[in-house]
Amino acid sequence: MQVRVRYAPSPTGSPHVGNLRTAIYNWLLVKKLGGQFIARLEDTDRTPGRYMPEGIWDIEESLRYLGTLPDEWWVSGGSTGPYIQSERLALYQDHADKLIASGHAYRCYCSRERLEAMRQEQQAKGVPTGYDRCCRSDAGREEMRQRRLIELGSEPTFVVRLAMPLDGQTVVHDLVKGDIVYENRTQDDQVLLKTDGFPTYFLACAVDDHLMGVTHVIRGDDWLSSAAKFVAVINAFGWDPPALVHPPLILGPDRKKLSKRHGSTQFTEFVDQGYLPEALLNFLVLLGWSAGDENRELFSLPELIERFSLEGISEHPAIFDYEKLKWMNGMYIRQSPQGRIIGLCMPHLQKAGLIGTPPSESEIELARKFIPLEIERMKVLSEIVVMAEPFFKELHFPAGYEEKAVTKWLKVEYIKPLLQREIEEFTNLTDWTPENLEALVRQIGDDMELKFAGVIHPTRVAVTGRTVGPGLFEALWALGREITLQRLQSVCDAV
Ligand code: GLU
Repeated sequence: MQVRVRYAPSPTGSPHVGNLRTAIYNWLLVKKLGGQFIARLEDTDRTPGRYMPEGIWDIEESLRYLGTLPDEWWVSGGSTGPYIQSERLALYQDHADKLIASGHAYRCYCSRERLEAMRQEQQAKGVPTGYDRCCRSDAGREEMRQRRLIELGSEPTFVVRLAMPLDGQTVVHDLVKGDIVYENRTQDDQVLLKTDGFPTYFLACAVDDHLMGVTHVIRGDDWLSSAAKFVAVINAFGWDPPALVHPPLILGPDRKKLSKRHGSTQFTEFVDQGYLPEALLNFLVLLGWSAGDENRELFSLPELIERFSLEGISEHPAIFDYEKLKWMNGMYIRQSPQGRIIGLCMPHLQKAGLIGTPPSESEIELARKFIPLEIERMKVLSEIVVMAEPFFKELHFPAGYEEKAVTKWLKVEYIKPLLQREIEEFTNLTDWTPENLEALVRQIGDDMELKFAGVIHPTRVAVTGRTVGPGLFEALWALGREITLQRLQSVCDAV
């Protein structure tokens, strides 16, 4: 059997990380077993606040960023397109007509007011809410149509509802969670087609999965509760349901559903902060899937493809551990070629206004020297901005100097002679290299009978305004002689 899977995002905004996790699982399955990965845009819910076309670009960019590009989607097209549901309306209408003809669906003429009154009455009585199936019989339907015709003075609109079997059971076979059995009599006669001719999710999804030849549906856990309706529609057509998999919910560190309260949740936010695609992919795959080796966290992409299987998807909720993601990203940063990290840091420096767009020759030179010095400490690429400030911004003592650092290290009684001596020696140094700078500073310390720490801390604060940064001698080397001397002088004049 040729595997065909789909990722079916709705344009309800920028995609949630959990949504992309589903895309990754689908993509991995195809990479592992062969077949096609389809992406389809489910844009038929036009409720205000639920239809946000501006999120479509983020969906596309997120898939590109991860490298999990679909084989068939609305961008490239494919043999079972179109891949945007609003362009497939005629197909859904045809299929609704087929269900009506076979007696599996019916037109319902009930007004919004009637349905609302029914719902309120049911709620007041404390009974489950649902449609009373008034239009399910030919007589009831015709009576309702006539009543509406008189009320409106014109042919009334209608919805199409599924004629849910009144007895028996609908079984949802979930590959991970097992069989879930629903009593049909507890299920409502679901609306399939709305008055405006747009399908509801249940019709559109069942029709598309069938026409697109989808073999496995891997989708968010939130769809499990309505899976019986989805399967009932498929059964009504007499089709074979695809294999269903609902990866577990993603929770925040407090075990509540992951939300804004916990931190970033949109995939693009992580991209903006400077998480590498391979780190995000590795991290998201492990949210709800395991390869079996309990403690292993880092998997290369070929390893993930080789080891991925639907059986490894867990039944239990996964916890989104922000710290672990940061750690993992740091690991991937350090595994990356230096040149790549330099390149990826540049847009962060540009966005922060620390370098120009395009950067000047001297900015490039400084970036090439400076960024590698920070790779050891960096967990997310955007951290480079704060790290880079003393290097790319002008610094004039005391503006921009950390107060605590100044109090601790620029108020020592030997500060002036130390800085004077450094200025003199640095001016005469022939070769401005980290090694020569270190030898020189050690010599000055020895000559002045100061401990090494007593020399390097004041020097670092005088030149960078901070106590923390890359190795001092590399930092001085990267900044260059001119700026180093200027800063030492400005502090020396002021203390
Ligand atoms: N359009 C649905 C969503 O964005 C997807 C449901 C499915 O994959 O079946 O949540």
